[in-house]
Amino acid sequence: MAQINSHYLKLKAGYLFPEITRRVNAFCAANPEADVIRLGIGDVTEPLPAVCINAMKQAVDEMGVRETFRGYMDDSQGLATLREKIVEYDFKSRGCEIDPADVFVSDGSKCDTGNILDVLAGGDANTIAVADPVYPVYVDTNVMAGNTGDASEQNEYDGLIYLRANEENGFCPPVPTEKIDVIYLCSPNNPTGTVATKEYLKSWVDFAQEHRSLILFDAAYEAFITESHLPHSIYEIDGAKEVAIEYRSFSKNAGFTGTRCAYCVVPSELMGQDSAGNNVSIRDLWTRRHNTKFNGVSYIIQRGAEAVYSTTGQQQVRDLVSFYLENAQRISQGLQQVGVKVYGAVNSPYVWLKTPASQTSWEFFDYLLDQVHLVGTPGSGFGASGEGFFRLSAFNSRENIEAAVQRLQKLVS
Ligand SMILES: *Cc1c(COP(=O)(O)O)cnc(C)c1O
Repeated sequence: MAQINSHYLKLKAGYLFPEITRRVNAFCAANPEADVIRLGIGDVTEPLPAVCINAMKQAVDEMGVRETFRGYMDDSQGLATLREKIVEYDFKSRGCEIDPADVFVSDGSKCDTGNILDVLAGGDANTIAVADPVYPVYVDTNVMAGNTGDASEQNEYDGLIYLRANEENGFCPPVPTEKIDVIYLCSPNNPTGTVATKEYLKSWVDFAQEHRSLILFDAAYEAFITESHLPHSIYEIDGAKEVAIEYRSFSKNAGFTGTRCAYCVVPSELMGQDSAGNNVSIRDLWTRRHNTKFNGVSYIIQRGAEAVYSTTGQQQVRDLVSFYLENAQRISQGLQQVGVKVYGAVNSPYVWLKTPASQTSWEFFDYLLDQVHLVGTPGSGFGASGEGFFRLSAFNSRENIEAAVQRLQKLVS
């Protein structure tokens, strides 16, 4: 009989989003007439930019003609034209020199952040740190890979280091005193909506240089940064190419959550260590993995992603992001008017609010759903330090956001 990967059995069954779905379905069954507005799961709602649609239609037509038909890509790392534009628009424009050979186009940052564990030693070989609260993918992929022990009552896994992000530290946990081999950073942050400053990122790059750690930097929400002093890429920090992989996605800026395209940068300067202590290029291992387990992103989709970097594409993406940011502002200001303490929203599509009247995150969830038929995400679902907080997403129509703000104000005031 086939033996299963028993590490999967350590995963908590009552995972956040299924539990939300369960409670919302139960509520809707009992209250079929209720007009429920969902500001829970972080999925975009607006259609794709027109430039992306046009580019993809054209690519489909190319596929229908012998002369321009494409089969397996020559280069599973991504179309050279796309990787050149990424390097120019996403990095050179910020003063970062990135080699297109270090850019790997993929079908999602979720997969990329999980798959990197393939080329790292498993078990307890690496000390791994995540923030608390955290994007659950970082934790669960480590559980699946066998890098943790069992979960505690508080849903924290033995063998993982949790860096507490709270109001006192501005949701940016300071570098620890102990040595860490692998650290996950996410900025702008999901769920707290806060952004790492240059000084903060420098403290991590310096730490990683000192301990020869690997930083996995998730910048999926980079396009939402509005304040000019904030870094968009970790490579804006000197020395980061020796210690960091950066993850970017077309999901949240261009609405590709259902279309699927992302990329990561694995710099050639980045080294890991083999068991004998020799330096090994992580990029070379990642290339080997990529070529064995992946045949590249659909040509049609890559052409759609490439269109994001045209002049019109840049404008259309800016408009899309501005639309969501305006939604976030309306939620944030509406809540502040009734005295609710809010974080995020300025450089992020997420509003991270402190639950009023000292309710727990789940108490506030039930209260919101019951009283005004709004769905959000309990902060405690992202980790123990999220208790007493609540995430509202700005990914919705303006009409729904306006209605949601009115309901929130009625509820809280
Ligand atoms: C949405 C999101 C991503 C993007 O994932 P894709 O697989 O590219 O859609 C990555 N990281 C975080 C923290 C996210 O919230």
